[in-house]
Amino acid sequence: MRIARFSIDGNVAFGAVEGDPAGGPDALLVDIIKGVPFAEFELSGTKVPLSKVRLLPPVLPNKVVAIGRNYAAHAAELGNEVPDAPWAFFKPSTSVVGPGDPIVYPSFSQEVHHEAELAVVISRLCRDVPRERVKDVILGYTCANDVTARDTQRTEKQWARAKGFDSACPLGPWIETSIDLATASDLAITATVNGELRQAGRTGQMVHGIEDLIVNITEAMTLLPGDVLLTGTPAGVGPLLPGDEVAVTIEGIGTLTNKVISRG
Ligand code: MG
Repeated sequence: MRIARFSIDGNVAFGAVEGDPAGGPDALLVDIIKGVPFAEFELSGTKVPLSKVRLLPPVLPNKVVAIGRNYAAHAAELGNEVPDAPWAFFKPSTSVVGPGDPIVYPSFSQEVHHEAELAVVISRLCRDVPRERVKDVILGYTCANDVTARDTQRTEKQWARAKGFDSACPLGPWIETSIDLATASDLAITATVNGELRQAGRTGQMVHGIEDLIVNITEAMTLLPGDVLLTGTPAGVGPLLPGDEVAVTIEGIGTLTNKVISRG
């Protein structure tokens, strides 16, 4: 099931997206969910065309935990070593935006980069999750862009500003819940800018896989329903400029598209 969060006529709801995305927005319908997707829920049977709603970030996380240097070729392209253990950092909830929302260039940067990433959405409160239970704490998967002010990242030891500015965490277009952990662990992932291919990899190239990452993070902290894990980016990161359109596509999930604008 593809679970979207959207607004229609001033109301916000979750819904299940039906239809083939290849047919365009008019081919897709949203069946409105009664309640929230983190517990038992029912479909209302009330369906609206996707073209009539505004998609929002598919989830509003309490926190986004992200992993740096988790693809060897990406670490190498920035002249970095792959760390032995997962290298986690936070992106604040206020950095999250949805599909179609603008990525707003921060005033302090002249070099904002795209980073296409698989995002894991957590289904339930969890701590100290053993490997064999990881699949039980995952609601599904979505596309993410770990937008980064690369110049700021180089000059500031902590990445709070470089990776935490408003709009630095596009998520979407929806949460795909029908992909299992094994499938999610080997999907094609790409980023294009203005239609030109910039990044192309597979989630199977992660140094530390999804299970290892969730075990590692929950050794330290409680994850809450709706929390999001960004799993690192493949090689090919590069600059975005105001006016650019960046699209992250993950096989079997969908495409997350955002336009870059300057701060007015
Ligand atoms: Mg990243």
